[in-house]
Amino acid sequence: MRVLKKFPQPNTIKGQLHRTLVWITFIIGLCIFIPTFYIEYRQTIQHQNEEMTHYLDAQTYFFESWLSERSSDIHTIANLDFVKDYNVEKSQAFFQDFKEKTNFTDLIFVNKEGIVQFDTVTEYSTNGAGVDVNDREYFQIAKKTKQAYITDILISKVTNQPIIAFASPIINEQQFNGVVFGTVNLNTIDQLLHESRVGFLGHAYIVNQDGTMLTEFNNKPQMFSENYPVDEHIMNFALKNTTSNLDIYKDANGKWVLAKSKPINQGKWFILSEIGLLEAYKPLIIRFLWITFCLVVGSFFTIKIMLHLSKKIEEPIQQLLTGVGKVEQGYYDYQINAQQMAPYAQEFQELCSSFNEMSAKVRKDTILLKELSITCQLTKLYNRRYLIEQGELVFQKCLEEQNHCSCIAIDIDFFKKVNDTYGHLTGDEVLKHVANIITNSVRRIDIITRYGGEEFVILSPNTTLESAVKIAERVRQHVEENPYNADNLEINVTVSIGIAGFGHSKNISTFYELLDSADQALYIAKKSGRNQLRVYDKTGIVDTSQML
Ligand code: GH3
Ligand code: MG
Ligand code: MG
Repeated sequence: MRVLKKFPQPNTIKGQLHRTLVWITFIIGLCIFIPTFYIEYRQTIQHQNEEMTHYLDAQTYFFESWLSERSSDIHTIANLDFVKDYNVEKSQAFFQDFKEKTNFTDLIFVNKEGIVQFDTVTEYSTNGAGVDVNDREYFQIAKKTKQAYITDILISKVTNQPIIAFASPIINEQQFNGVVFGTVNLNTIDQLLHESRVGFLGHAYIVNQDGTMLTEFNNKPQMFSENYPVDEHIMNFALKNTTSNLDIYKDANGKWVLAKSKPINQGKWFILSEIGLLEAYKPLIIRFLWITFCLVVGSFFTIKIMLHLSKKIEEPIQQLLTGVGKVEQGYYDYQINAQQMAPYAQEFQELCSSFNEMSAKVRKDTILLKELSITCQLTKLYNRRYLIEQGELVFQKCLEEQNHCSCIAIDIDFFKKVNDTYGHLTGDEVLKHVANIITNSVRRIDIITRYGGEEFVILSPNTTLESAVKIAERVRQHVEENPYNADNLEINVTVSIGIAGFGHSKNISTFYELLDSADQALYIAKKSGRNQLRVYDKTGIVDTSQML
């Protein structure tokens, strides 16, 4: 029962309302959720893209500035007079001093044959001096093009450490006279990258075109010793140089990230900026949870309100249905309580009062019809139909209670003559007159009926045959003694009466038999000269004179 209460039948108003509500809430929820989620998603992506762009722009600017400053440092040194003049002592002192003030790891002087003359790390030793750098690309370019050059990652021949080098040719009177180059440890670049952080949640690192990391990745030592530590997909993404797009891939730690890249150092390196997907989408997830929460709470209250509304429709309909059911069962006097309808819509109140009016009218008409169907219009007595309906019931009741029950059949004598002499209308009046006399001559418990034409039947429950004879005699006398009088007209009327009683004749066991017996006695009364009584008892039909 509880389950039925919770989930109403689908074909009821309540059930349909429930179903419709669930659908409406679901559809509205989707209509709000999908576009909101899409907009929020787009905004989050756009926001991340902008943030990463700013971050990369700032770092690129920082790095490019730093590279060009270091390049110009070396260029300036290479153009110093004492450097050009191969003043080793002065140059060495200057190099040492300059190194201290900058973030160069080493400053190296190379003669035009490509042999290191001195450097700052091996200042007073011979480690660096004499090393041949003739094969180095920066030396070749300086010699051939007399241009400054920034190298990719190299393993220093002096320190055996991975470095990058800033090289500048020494030009003396238009002649190539050697190279000055400054090296920078990868740690320095790493430090620079950290210094240039601008409050971004993710991490960044620099790779060269081979995919070698120039900086640490997530505070792990750079994997310089490995050849291609950066995933091929990441490298392709960086090389595509699509600076306007974000990409999603698994980073070196196998974690899904949102990434963006930008080339630096004339496209030789790339800064890759990455942020974990969960971090990137965190604001979206929080908003998504909020939206879901609001939708759930909103739906809950919407459904509550709608169900309350549905109750306001369903309850009065239930009351109307009950009313209709009652009328259907024959309770025509059933009325819906108008006060109980007061909280509901005007339409229901109107329906209720219409129903009540209708049931009152049905009741009135039904009573009238019922009355008409069992009443003789002329005499206002019960008719034959009523006698047949009630006779058996009354008789059976007497039978059950072992009571007597008597029946008196009355017929007006020579009534045809009345009609023939005075006309039918007068005949009707005489009939009414006799009916009145009969009514006034019997008791309240007696059921008087106009059985047909000018014949009447009185059914007397709980009445012995003797009592019935007395009643019948009273009727006969009253009719005889009270002629019909109207318009100076006096019509004498007499009646013949037959009486039968249950309890006096073993032959009688049904109302029909009782009525038939009374009729037979009446027939005898007629035959015996009219205006007299005859009784049907166990010995047969007898005269009543000795019973009176
Ligand atoms: P008897 O003494 O043998 O009963 O003779 P009777 O003339 O009374 O009996 P009969 O059966 O020959 O005639 C009955 C008459 O009653 C015939 C019919 O015209 C008349 N009658 C029956 N019903 C009505 C009625 O409603 N109004 C009028 N005015 N006459 C009626
Ligand atoms: Mg008659
Ligand atoms: Mg008759």
